[in-house]
Amino acid sequence: MSFVLGLKCRECGREYQQEPIHVCEFCFGPLEVRYDYAAIGRSISREAITKRPASMWRYRELIPIDRDPVVGLDNGFTPLVHAKNLGRLLGMPNLYIKNDAVCHPTLSFKDRVVAAAVNKAMEFGYDTVACASTGNLANSVAAHAAAAGMKAYIFIPSDLEAGKVLGSSIYEPNILGIDGSYDDVNRFCSEVAAVYKWAFVNINIRPFYGDGSKTYGYEIAEQLGWRAPDAYISPVAGSSLITKIYKAFKEFEQLGLLEDEVKTKVYAAQATGCSPVTTAIKAGKTEFTPVKPNTIAKSIAIGNPADGYYGIKVVNSTGGWGEDVTDNEVIEGMRLLARTEGIFTETAGGVTVAVTKKLLEQGKLDPEGVTVIAITGQGLKTREAVADLLTPPTIIEPKLGAFEATMKKNRWQ
Ligand SMILES: *Cc1c(COP(=O)(O)O)cnc(C)c1O
Ligand SMILES: [Zn+2]
Repeated sequence: MSFVLGLKCRECGREYQQEPIHVCEFCFGPLEVRYDYAAIGRSISREAITKRPASMWRYRELIPIDRDPVVGLDNGFTPLVHAKNLGRLLGMPNLYIKNDAVCHPTLSFKDRVVAAAVNKAMEFGYDTVACASTGNLANSVAAHAAAAGMKAYIFIPSDLEAGKVLGSSIYEPNILGIDGSYDDVNRFCSEVAAVYKWAFVNINIRPFYGDGSKTYGYEIAEQLGWRAPDAYISPVAGSSLITKIYKAFKEFEQLGLLEDEVKTKVYAAQATGCSPVTTAIKAGKTEFTPVKPNTIAKSIAIGNPADGYYGIKVVNSTGGWGEDVTDNEVIEGMRLLARTEGIFTETAGGVTVAVTKKLLEQGKLDPEGVTVIAITGQGLKTREAVADLLTPPTIIEPKLGAFEATMKKNRWQ
C-alpha cells in the first residue's frame, strides 16, 4: 500500500511522478516526496502504531515505499534514554539521549535512510546500489545490499577510520577509497551516477533516502509520550537529518498524533574543523560558505552540505542556534557520555554532547526544558579518537598476591 503521490520541488513547487531523480529540471531545487496525508490520517493512529512491531516500520505510512519492505525489517526503534546522571551534572533534569549508537544492523542512524533507499531501489528495479559516504552510510549500504542480494559500489574518502572501512568491507561490496575529502568523493560520484545506471542512495534516490531519517523523529515524539521536545540538538553533515527531524514532528502534529503543538527549538552541532552551517548561523547568514574539512569527526565532515541552506533555515525558523566544538571537546564529549550514562558513541556523538554543554554555558539552552541530544553512531567504529587516552588493563599473573599488590599500588581500596 502506497501513500506516495510523487515528488515535488522544494523551491518552485513543480510536481513530478515517482522516479529516481533528485533535482528539479527547471530550477535545480531539491525534490521532496509528496504524501497523501488525508489517506495517511485514515490509516495511522497512536493505537495502530503502538500495536506494531518495535521497528522504524511502525510508521510505515510515512516511509516512501510502495510495497512491503524486503530488507531492514527490524531497523530502528532505538532507546530514548532519560540521561539522569549527565543531566544532574549539567543541571538539566529533563535531558534525553536518543541512542542510535545501537541502531540495527550497522550501529548508526544511517540504517534508517538506507532501509528506505534500498527498498525503494528494489521497487525501481535496480540490481546495484551505490553511495558516496563518510563511513556509516557505506557500512549500512554494504550490509543491506548483501541482505538484498544486490551488487554494491561504495565510495569513501581514503583516510577513514579502520572501523568504518572494515565495517563495510566485511560485506564484500566493491569498495573504493578516493584520494580526497568527502566533497571530492561526492562530486566524483555525481559523475559516475551520470554514466552508470545504479541506485546511488544519496544522489538519485536522495528524496526517498532522506525520509528514512524521519523515523528518528517519530520515535522521539512517541517515546516522550506523544510530544515533541523543547530542544533538539542535531549533528550536521549534509544537513538532511536536522531538517527531517523537524519535518517528522510537524507531520505528527498535522496528523493529530501529538499532545501539544510543536515548539521545538532545533540546534545544529558541528566540529569547528568543519562548521559551514554553524558558522553561518552564528554570523546571522542564510547561506553557508563551503569549507575544507579538518576534524576527527569524520562522519560529519562535509564541507559543502547538500541541504545546508535548509538546515540553517530550520534552526533560524524555530528559534534555535548553532555551535561548534574543537576536536579536544569532541573527545571530552565522548568520554563524558560514556562516564555518566554508559553509552559509547562515535565522534559525531561527542560533538552533540559537547555542543549541548557549550550552549548551556552560553545561556542558549533552557536547562529545565525537555532536551534531546542526538547520538547517531557507535564508538567502537572510531576508537582511534580515544584509544591513546584511556587506562589500559594492568597485566598480572593469575595469583591473589599479585592482585592484592596491584590493588594496593593503585589505591583501589
Ligand atoms: C551521516 C551522519 C550524520 C549526519 O547526517 P546528515 O543527514 O548528512 O546531516 C550524523 N551522525 C552520523 C554518525 C552520521 O553518520
Ligand atoms: Zn523547481
